[in-house]
Amino acid sequence: MERKKLVIIGSGPAAFTAAIYAARANLFPLLYEGFFSGPAGGQLMTTTEVENYPGFPEGITGPELMDKMRKQALRFNTSILTEDVIQVDLKASPFIVRGSATTVEADALIIATGANARRLDIPGAGEGELWQKGVSACAICDGAAPIFRGKDLFVIGGGDTAVEESIFLTKYGKKVYLVHRRDELRASKIMAERALHHPKIEILWNHVLVGVEGDAIVTNVILKDITTDKERRQEAGGVFFAIGHDPNTGFLQGQLALQPNGYIQVKPGTTLTNVEGVFAAGDVHDHKYRQAVSAAGSGCMAALDAEKWLSAKGLAD
Ligand code: NAP
Repeated sequence: MERKKLVIIGSGPAAFTAAIYAARANLFPLLYEGFFSGPAGGQLMTTTEVENYPGFPEGITGPELMDKMRKQALRFNTSILTEDVIQVDLKASPFIVRGSATTVEADALIIATGANARRLDIPGAGEGELWQKGVSACAICDGAAPIFRGKDLFVIGGGDTAVEESIFLTKYGKKVYLVHRRDELRASKIMAERALHHPKIEILWNHVLVGVEGDAIVTNVILKDITTDKERRQEAGGVFFAIGHDPNTGFLQGQLALQPNGYIQVKPGTTLTNVEGVFAAGDVHDHKYRQAVSAAGSGCMAALDAEKWLSAKGLAD
């Protein structure tokens, strides 16, 4: 079995940044970018224009940005395998990483498998329908697009993200409807107050979204009042799901300590997990910031932490 100094699992900004740093430190990283698990490149592959990643004053599309990061990782001798990691054995030394086609040993491991925004499986909102044609799961990424300007926008959810995204969207939309399935927000009190008193936000209590309509882009939503079971159609320019994220940790099968919400636990201010030699970067441990640039920053930290650990063990050379 081939033995690698460092294996990186993931293909978003955290994984590729970790690869760039590790490769430049002569660790010859092997990166599993996934295949069936989702688009290589992570969540940015599902967004359009990225305008808040520094260095691109004119903006750049998510897929283009990821392509550049991938090329940069390859330039410094990262090996990339386009396959999913099915399982890891973190009790073994070196660790064992089982992909769908290959199995390797790894002295150190960086987990940067990210998280996926939850979506509602309702008519009109899927791939090939109006997904990314007015339906999004990230207002911060997509909300400034011209199609949303001056329109009625609908945010689904009742947590901090839903409130934050609703407030963000008031800059662009005519009005923002926050659609929540209960009669009380889950968001923190201070955030909830902001939504409740915002002149451009209306909260639709006890409502659920049951459909999205439009030809080329979203034009209407179908809402259901769950207290009466009545459905109605309302004009809409955009729909934003803010119903939480799921970290991609299934392949770990309980071998790493997780936070109560399922994200990987790290030692504060570092990327160290509870297993020596295993580091976590990006959204798989960060449920708070969740930005491409913060993920990239934590990928850099993970590579530096891994290099330091490998050097201390005499495994870096
Ligand atoms: P969250 O707290 O889990 O809230 C998810 C919301 O979506 C809940 O209101 C939930 O309704 C609703 N929801 C879930 N599934 C649904 C479905 N199938 N249909 C309709 N509604 C559904 O997630 P989050 O808002 O993304 O926040 C995640 C974490 O990040 C939290 O700890 C949050 O405090 C933190 N965060 C903090 C900030 C900040 O401090 N600025 C910003 C963003 C996030 P119910 O309430 O009925 O369960």
